[in-house]
Amino acid sequence: MKVTVDESTCTGCEVCTDLAPDVFEIDDDMISRVKVDAVPSGSEDKVREAVDSCPVACIDITEE
Ligand code: SF4
Repeated sequence: MKVTVDESTCTGCEVCTDLAPDVFEIDDDMISRVKVDAVPSGSEDKVREAVDSCPVACIDITEE
């Protein structure tokens, strides 16, 4: 699974970083960044939860 965040839409609310801190991090501009090339298998459910929980729906996943 790969995941991307639309930086222009992200509000930096930290929902995704709270759910999957090994995948997302908030940068100095208060935007969520994806810090992995591929989502670790053990974090996939949390990433899907982040997609469903993001208040501005700016996280996209690609299943491989
Ligand atoms: S949940 Fe969405 S809006 Fe909030 S920090 Fe993550 S990507 Fe940005």
